[in-house]
Amino acid sequence: MPHKIPPLRTIFDGQVIAPNDARYDEARTVFYGGIDRRPALIVRVKNAADVSRAVSLARDSGLELAVRSGGHSPAGHGVSDGGIVLDLSEMKALEFDLERRTVWAETGLTAGEYTTTAGAYGLATGFGDTGSVGIGGITLAGGIGYLVRKHGLTIDDLLAAEIVTADGRLLRADAATHPDLFWAIRGGGGNFGVATRFQFRLHEVGMVLGGTLILPASPEIIASFVDRAEAAPDELSTIANVMLAPPVPWLPATAHGKLVIMARLVYAGDVETGARVIAPFRALAEPLADMVKPKRYPEMYPLEEERHPVASTRAIFVDAIDRPAAETIVEHLETSTAKMAAAEIRVLGGTMARVSADATAFAHRGARIMVNVAAMYERPDEAATHGPWVDDFAAALRQSESGAYVGFLRDEGAARVRAAYPGMTWEKLVAVKSRYDPTNLFRLNQNIPPSGHEMAHTRSSVSSRPMRWSRARSRCRTTWRKS
Ligand SMILES: Cc1cc2nc3c(=O)[nH]c(=O)nc-3n(C[C@H](O)[C@H](O)[C@H](O)COP(=O)(O)OP(=O)(O)OC[C@H]3O[C@@H](n4cnc5c(N)ncnc54)[C@H](O)[C@@H]3O)c2cc1C
Repeated sequence: MPHKIPPLRTIFDGQVIAPNDARYDEARTVFYGGIDRRPALIVRVKNAADVSRAVSLARDSGLELAVRSGGHSPAGHGVSDGGIVLDLSEMKALEFDLERRTVWAETGLTAGEYTTTAGAYGLATGFGDTGSVGIGGITLAGGIGYLVRKHGLTIDDLLAAEIVTADGRLLRADAATHPDLFWAIRGGGGNFGVATRFQFRLHEVGMVLGGTLILPASPEIIASFVDRAEAAPDELSTIANVMLAPPVPWLPATAHGKLVIMARLVYAGDVETGARVIAPFRALAEPLADMVKPKRYPEMYPLEEERHPVASTRAIFVDAIDRPAAETIVEHLETSTAKMAAAEIRVLGGTMARVSADATAFAHRGARIMVNVAAMYERPDEAATHGPWVDDFAAALRQSESGAYVGFLRDEGAARVRAAYPGMTWEKLVAVKSRYDPTNLFRLNQNIPPSGHEMAHTRSSVSSRPMRWSRARSRCRTTWRKS
């Protein structure tokens, strides 16, 4: 199809990248390794009009549409095999209203870019723990990060959004305008349209007490760590990885290969009080490394991050990590043969839990702890070994209803997508989906099918509909002329 691409370049303000383009391989690569899909074209959109053109092109051609902000989807939903990739990474404008403490942010920004720019004003909105994650994907999933207990989920600071829906229109969604859509996008993922801009509330977050604390791990220390994290004031959010210590120079050689808790802590409040709050964690055992110190909040996002890891993961919610659960963690980690294996424990609660479960499509407000079990390895074919290990581990930790968080879902099947939306949430989401995307154009995601549709395969696949490429192109041209 390469010969048909050049005319498309005249339609878009942004770049159109085809398979014969020198940039193609770089442009089709997403965060996780082992995902090797070849889209028919990649559109690096420049503005909302481009987004609408790309949506119309996908709709009218019948080609599958992948929507990508930061490309971190664990299922690789940011790239399609044979379809169109709508890549937002060139849309990075930020428009601050410092008096009102709000900002309009284009969705091609990463969490790190947003946080660094807002940090220059001593302001922040909470995202996750990784700077390279796109604000598009994390916001639509919910957003659980370093400020979750102090300021809630990312969506708890979302005031409005601009979204291109399946019919190509740009809509504003907020509490008063399209409130059903506004409810649905706060946790419902990319099912309802392409968000071009978000308006966020900003909080004063200047200096924090934060960084990494590494302790030796035993069942007792793990359970006590979680106890203390639950009892701590809302200012403290913790993300604790229980794992075998890597052979890094900043850890004593005697600790290499031993089980440790590698915890990232943020106390978002007065630094001296923070030191008193963190003291009980430091007292759990002689720290192997203690890099918790006063810093500007954006420093929580280091510049260098691992790219393209191959991994199997599973995230579940649990009620407690007591001594038996901690023993389960230790036993399983000791049996892993992966290059790296970890159980990441995030203690929730605080502000996140004070929002009512039906206020947003993210409804796991009462969840106390999220555990993300992961194995990382070299080659995709090793998934046959490490995938079952991850599944067994998560099953062993499961307590009552385990739920699911769409941000961390891989290709785990329809039941796991349903598990993300408990109670009436699912029915309400299906109703909103049927209203705004009745043909399931936005299906390459953790899919919520509109009524009358089966759940789309979450794996990328070429549409079986015949492609009406030239018709799509001419329609696209008449709908959206270049400015
Ligand atoms: C290393 C790593 C660390 C993570 N840490 C955290 C964390 O601390 N907290 C947390 O909550 N989550 C975390 N996540 C999960 C992450 O939030 C989700 O995977 C999120 O979807 C990634 O967003 P993205 O824009 O980078 O990914 P993409 O692959 O670009 O997008 C993921 C999906 O979101 C949808 N989407 C993205 N942008 C838009 C848009 N503008 N409009 C419509 N739909 C869109 C699409 O359906 C797309 O397939 C992490 C993931 C990784 C890989």
